[in-house]
Amino acid sequence: MKNSSSTPDAGVTRLKFWGVRGSIPAPGAGTVRYGGNTSCMEVRAGGQIVILDAGTGLRLLGRELLAEFAHQPLELTLLLTHTHWDHIQGLPFFLPLLRPQVQIRILGYEGARHGLDTLLRAQMESPFFPVGMRELDTHVRIEELRDFSFQVGAIQVTAAPANHPGVCVGYRLATAGGSIAFFPDNEPHLSRERWPQAGGHALEHARAEHQKLVSFLGGTDVLVMDTQYDREEYLEHRGWGHGCLDDVVALALEARIQRLYLFHHDPDHDDDKIDEMLAHAQKLVNERGGSLRVEAAREGAELELGGGSREGGSRSEA
Ligand SMILES: [Zn+2]
Ligand SMILES: [Zn+2]
Repeated sequence: MKNSSSTPDAGVTRLKFWGVRGSIPAPGAGTVRYGGNTSCMEVRAGGQIVILDAGTGLRLLGRELLAEFAHQPLELTLLLTHTHWDHIQGLPFFLPLLRPQVQIRILGYEGARHGLDTLLRAQMESPFFPVGMRELDTHVRIEELRDFSFQVGAIQVTAAPANHPGVCVGYRLATAGGSIAFFPDNEPHLSRERWPQAGGHALEHARAEHQKLVSFLGGTDVLVMDTQYDREEYLEHRGWGHGCLDDVVALALEARIQRLYLFHHDPDHDDDKIDEMLAHAQKLVNERGGSLRVEAAREGAELELGGGSREGGSRSEA
């Protein structure tokens, strides 16, 4: 890609959050610090620009990309975890869709037996939106993924099923600067609240699935994961497909993650509540004596991996 000025250091990977909220946008005075836009994250590595999810944060990213690259050719890869609204709703407002010089590949898995292509076009049909996607065909390619391992340029991408209603995956990107895993919607299979001393096949299954995810994530530098509920809220939402903070911290510790970002913030959680959840997560890590760093994802926050000289090979501008 296309513009080396965007990635001056070959071994450096940059991550930026454009939308961190779950379920529905939550603008307002109570959410100005962490932000109200839904799931969208940008990763730049090895000359590639990879966008993870197309929630409403995608609109802001689109404006920035056009300002940065002006009329230069540009290639973008958009990886979708699934097609729930909070993960695709920014797509119709993504201005690069209207610029033929921008080549856009949209990759994801089929979610409802109609095909990814049909699903994404449907939300832009005339009852819902004035500009149809068919008008954009020449520079937008929608590809349904079959394999769980593929390359985006030099980035090795692997996918794993998430525990979430319908078809939903998480992605792990192995880049020269470090590895990043993105699981915006996921309920850890093992939970203190969900499996109280129980036995039986369901628990066996949960343990097996948990182990698979621990292996998939093992040693990842940065994990961005659904922590929608605190423990008390989770009691009312078991089986909904979203994470309990305590379980996600335990999972990250077991998988030897270096840095965990709390993500998919509940639309009813204001900034102070997210601060509280972050403090609770840090307390859990301290109690376990872990070296895991925990942060709450915030709209506009950036992270650099693989800078070499910086502490821990990463720098947070969050
Ligand atoms: Zn979601
Ligand atoms: Zn979802």
